[in-house]
Amino acid sequence: MSLWAFHLSAMAKRKETSVDLHRIIMVGMAGVGKSALTLQYMYDEFVENYEPTKADSYRKKVVLEGEECNIDILDTAGQEDYAAIRDNYFRSGEGFLLVFSITESESFQALDDLREHILRVKNDDKFALIMTGNKADLEDQRRVSTAEAQAQATRWGVPYVETSAKTKDNVDKAFFDLMRMVKATKGEPAGGQGKKNKKKKKSKCTIL
Ligand code: GDP
Ligand code: MG
Repeated sequence: MSLWAFHLSAMAKRKETSVDLHRIIMVGMAGVGKSALTLQYMYDEFVENYEPTKADSYRKKVVLEGEECNIDILDTAGQEDYAAIRDNYFRSGEGFLLVFSITESESFQALDDLREHILRVKNDDKFALIMTGNKADLEDQRRVSTAEAQAQATRWGVPYVETSAKTKDNVDKAFFDLMRMVKATKGEPAGGQGKKNKKKKKSKCTIL
């Protein structure tokens, strides 16, 4: 079991939220630039060919609204094929960077299902979400217009930001905006973003 997975299962059991640790999860189709964004944010480097099948977590100390805190970033890599593992990842996330590439319509359409999945897994738990159109430096290959993406984000009630992991345009902004949103959700009563305010179901027994 990876350290992260161990951490997650312990967290899920305790249902604890930490004020000074914000958990962010990178979500999006393969190839949209989740790893490139993460590494650019973490290390100020554009990594052209990051191992595409590797999920990794990163931690960084940041100052957010004058307060020091830690950010954990889980860079998913699509091999979370076991639903239970992926659900555990999603459940532990407090902030989601939902990423597509502006050069690939399919990656934009894929956000629908991914968002649905997050909503389903998070159920009544609070979370923050930002939609990110990455590869903004490849304007000549653009297949998803800013207006189209913005309209989707507005329908979903989430912020939209266009980034380039290559030039670092808006990369810090995307992470900081998301961290601020995560911090804000922790100050709220239960039932934040994407809430249906359903009554909590009684926990079911599992017959082994
Ligand atoms: P992931 O599968 O979502 O983690 O995507 P990667 O971070 O591995 O990126 C996939 C490919 O797109 C790599 O070749 C990256 O170098 C490239 N890439 C990622 N972000 C950008 C970007 O903002 N601009 C450009 N031009 N290429 C990018
Ligand atoms: Mg990757």
